[in-house]
Amino acid sequence: MAIIGIDLGTTNSLGAAVRDGEVVLIPNRFGSYLTPSVVSVDGEGTIEVGEIAKERMVTHPEYTAFSFKRDMGTEKKWKLGRRTFTPEELSSFVLRSIFDDARAFLGEEIEEAVISVPAYFHDKQRVATKRAGLLAGIPVKRIINEPSAAALASYVETGEEKLYCVFDFGGGTLDISIVDCFDTMVEIVSVAGNNRLGGDDFNRLIAEAFLRDHGIKKSAIGRREFAILIRAAEKCKIALTDQDPAEMTVTLNDRTFTSTFTNERLMELSGDLFGKIKDALARALKGGSFRASEIDAIVMAGGSSRMPLVQSFVQHLFGGKPIILSNPDELIARGLGTVCGIMSRSGEVKDYVMADICPFTLGTQTHNKADSSNPFMTPIISRNTALPCSRSQRFFTSSDNQSLVSIQILQGEHPYAKDDLKLGEIEVPVPKAPAGKESVDVRFTYDIDGILIADVKVTSTGLAVSKVISDEVTGEQLEKRISELNALKLEPKEEAENKVLIEKLEALFEEAEPDLRETVQNRLKTFLALLEKQNERKIRKYREYLVQFLDRTELDDPFDSIFDTELPEEEPEEEETWGGADFFRSDGNDPFGGKGGSWMS
Ligand code: ADP
Ligand code: MG
Repeated sequence: MAIIGIDLGTTNSLGAAVRDGEVVLIPNRFGSYLTPSVVSVDGEGTIEVGEIAKERMVTHPEYTAFSFKRDMGTEKKWKLGRRTFTPEELSSFVLRSIFDDARAFLGEEIEEAVISVPAYFHDKQRVATKRAGLLAGIPVKRIINEPSAAALASYVETGEEKLYCVFDFGGGTLDISIVDCFDTMVEIVSVAGNNRLGGDDFNRLIAEAFLRDHGIKKSAIGRREFAILIRAAEKCKIALTDQDPAEMTVTLNDRTFTSTFTNERLMELSGDLFGKIKDALARALKGGSFRASEIDAIVMAGGSSRMPLVQSFVQHLFGGKPIILSNPDELIARGLGTVCGIMSRSGEVKDYVMADICPFTLGTQTHNKADSSNPFMTPIISRNTALPCSRSQRFFTSSDNQSLVSIQILQGEHPYAKDDLKLGEIEVPVPKAPAGKESVDVRFTYDIDGILIADVKVTSTGLAVSKVISDEVTGEQLEKRISELNALKLEPKEEAENKVLIEKLEALFEEAEPDLRETVQNRLKTFLALLEKQNERKIRKYREYLVQFLDRTELDDPFDSIFDTELPEEEPEEEETWGGADFFRSDGNDPFGGKGGSWMS
């Protein structure tokens, strides 16, 4: 029985575990570590997760959900075709897919999971994350803050006591945390960020510049073409990580356009974004009353930290402080793997204590004399207070003969209650008396697992009422939904591999320039014909070949290192021929000969 850790990201998710005392990342069914956090429903109502679903963002946007992590803990519903899902259900599919991969990889059952969430996630979002785990059939033992996991990984890997600034720059969010690591403590001391800033913004800027280059109005292209444009922009951005300049070619309305981008050009385009990065960093430092010079090292996490521009900008801001940077998009998972090790006490991992702060203010609503219809939010536990913590405050009745006091449990940084998030409510009766004579003591206790306990005690009568905010994780409804979701079938591995190839070919067809299109279409036809014949061996061979083919046409995708396998030397025996098939046509040893082969440089 194993414990696994999962970095359930907005853009990508990945799992880690401990095997023979070592932290290992869990490869997914396609052999890569990152599984896109994308869910799609196909024509037969089957749930697709990850790579396949990501391809369907272009081909079937109306059946595909992404970035749903942003909506965790809200009532938002995603409609995919005829089905409707909550954000936690969508997340449960991603989790289920990773659990399945972990089972296959580790060769044992998964007993429980540790999942990371952003430090600023409030209670409802944490509860929703736990429920997603339950819906996927695995109890979530602990919720760990992403920066704690990132800092822990860096701390364990470098072994040095440090005040870290964890800079986690993903697809759509920037999370910054100041984390103090000393002895066996990993303590978050301040958090700040921007949950509308990430790699996606660079994609958008590149796409817009591309349109400007060619005098095309955004309104002149359709939704699907825009999706293709954005994908090409992302590829161009990723290419700029290892090469400068990089070319971007997109076919729009049957015409093919090319632009050249350099890092310098990207820097000019994204001045605004860098300003926002600086703001977030400044807020995190100020929140803990630190100066940049006090930070010992910057830990870079998240896929967007792979951008040379981002690295040099951060380095420049911190005046040459050491930067800890290695496979930033896997860092949080590595930290979670370490946590799994601590929990199962296996191997060499030391016992670390993860200390946290409350990343937001918790308080209650109080009377506003100037405008009784617009009550104030009065803080009880302030943002950045060390956890676990317990704070109490006394509140008095505001009107004569008041017989009931209603305590709202609020979370947020806004001065008026209406703008903050309501987590719950407690009502207690009080004896009738003149205003201000009766009072209640309100105590909030918040612990490291994100559980808030609110206690209200009436001073005169001693009546006490208590409410646990996170206590929403059980119940019949949940059971029912678990069995419903389990009934939805996830793809078996082989079929999933075939499907992802088909989706990739279809997406490539849409993106490709006209002369490549023909080749792509031929390969697609061949593959579909093979599938129809159900000749497993040939399917397998052709699948390998297609993987190579796609790999060559997507040279600038750094995640696809799994596709580095050698091409099959022998061609499959030619027993039958298929319409449109070009694979079995012999043109020398190089199966890439002809258009497919000579197309790329
Ligand atoms: P999240 O935490 O949002 O789930 P990740 O940490 O996986 O996401 O980061 C995803 C983002 O990283 C995407 O915007 C992607 O384009 C970007 N990214 C990944 N690799 C690179 C690279 N080599 N260069 C630039 N950006 C990259
Ligand atoms: Mg992330």
